[in-house]
Amino acid sequence: MAEETIFSKIIRREIPADILFQDDLVTAFRDINPLAPSHILIIPNHLIATVNDVKASDERALGRMMTVAAKIAEEEGIANDGYRLIMNCNKHGGQEVYHIHMHLVGGRPLGRILAT
Ligand code: 5GP
Repeated sequence: MAEETIFSKIIRREIPADILFQDDLVTAFRDINPLAPSHILIIPNHLIATVNDVKASDERALGRMMTVAAKIAEEEGIANDGYRLIMNCNKHGGQEVYHIHMHLVGGRPLGRILAT
């Protein structure tokens, strides 16, 4: 059983976060350390530690993450210019919080997909 992270507390609103969207499956909130004018994290409400742990039964929540990403990009006014969706997995992927999350990043040109 994976251990809860700070993201579970955000989902339950036990600690503050700038929540843009929440329903029965997912929660979206602004990253505390934004790397671009729009930097939003979209997460499933139930704990999945890494992309390696995804199961077929998670597909509804994962699909909702995509539709919520598109909705928020529209609301942020970045849909037409474009943005990037990123999911980091484990050490080489640079994952720091072990509750899967999709980064929605945009609001400026982001350059090539990898910095190095
Ligand atoms: P990762 O490196 O795991 O893909 O990304 C984790 C992200 O979570 C980072 O961009 C980091 O700034 C963000 N983050 C970590 N702790 C908090 C928090 O308590 N609140 C919010 N809003 N974002 C957080």
